[in-house]
Amino acid sequence: MIPFISQLAKNEQVLWLQALSEALPSESIILADDVPHDQKHLCTLAIVANPDLATLSQFKNLHWLHSVWAGVEKLMATLQTSAIKVVRLVDPMLSQTMAEAVLAWSLYLHRDMPTYARQQRKTQWLQQAYVPASQRRIGILGLGELGCVSAMQLKSNGFQVMGWSRSAKTLADISTFSDESGLAEMAAQSDILICLLPLTPATKGIVNSALLNKMPKGSSVVNFARGGIIATDDLLKALDNKQIKHAVLDVFEQEPLSSTSEFWQHPNITVLPHISAPTNMNSACTIVADNILQYRQTGQLPECVDKVKGY
Ligand code: NAP
Repeated sequence: MIPFISQLAKNEQVLWLQALSEALPSESIILADDVPHDQKHLCTLAIVANPDLATLSQFKNLHWLHSVWAGVEKLMATLQTSAIKVVRLVDPMLSQTMAEAVLAWSLYLHRDMPTYARQQRKTQWLQQAYVPASQRRIGILGLGELGCVSAMQLKSNGFQVMGWSRSAKTLADISTFSDESGLAEMAAQSDILICLLPLTPATKGIVNSALLNKMPKGSSVVNFARGGIIATDDLLKALDNKQIKHAVLDVFEQEPLSSTSEFWQHPNITVLPHISAPTNMNSACTIVADNILQYRQTGQLPECVDKVKGY
């Protein structure tokens, strides 16, 4: 028996349950609340979507969890000291969806769409200087599952692409950087900086005044990762003093974003409601099912999140 543990609305939980059960007919998958109390100790594996600690802790013998989300920041914070292993979703379809969003909002900034929208509201006929994609430099923070595919997407659309990661990487036609000096070097050349880092103690607030001030004056920032990666007050300061021209924010420390947040009305911020790369239920269920079948056959867990690194 595998419990599905989630804080999603009940109707969404039922949809996940149906899709998971279809993908994995050999297993009995049950909503956490429906698992009888005297059987909870029998569950060693759970499928989760942002589970709450109280429900998780009712299952005393869990060895590992498979998340149907790619980002597991909250889960890692909850399970930091626990022995339970965590497997996150790694889905090529999700990477493709994120790469599409990265391309869409890079083009939005590259072709000055926020400026033209503002000009239209003021009935202003004004042609901005055209910059070819080959002269537009885009830096990506994080070259993991999402960052690598996004980098290649941008490259194939003619942009100059750079990427920064913890470990040094080699990617065809993409300039790569690592460590602190590499971060400064990449920021100094980024007309657009795209954030695709996991939120960890090392990345919290990494996009701060020090980094933003290293970027070329009038450059832009996109956050498709987690809200905490950007030091909000520093970003607002950089926008107000025109060091940063525009920010596209899809993720926030508090979601949904409060209606009183100044981000909503800021003329140089585009607010998105966490839509850059939604999980595709069908592909996610197929991947989760394959991983669980493989585990049942071999006893081998898929690659787990590293609790020391936090991602
Ligand atoms: P991933 O495969 O784990 O890749 C993370 C990348 O960040 C890796 O390249 C890693 O470096 C780098 N990194 C981590 N810590 C670093 C540090 N301290 N310094 C430098 N580089 C560091 O993660 P992913 O699947 O690409 O996902 C990234 C994040 O996107 C997720 O954690 C989640 O927060 C977010 N996300 C957002 C959405 C959305 O809809 N907005 C959807 C899905 C995911 P190494 O390669 O050296 O390990």
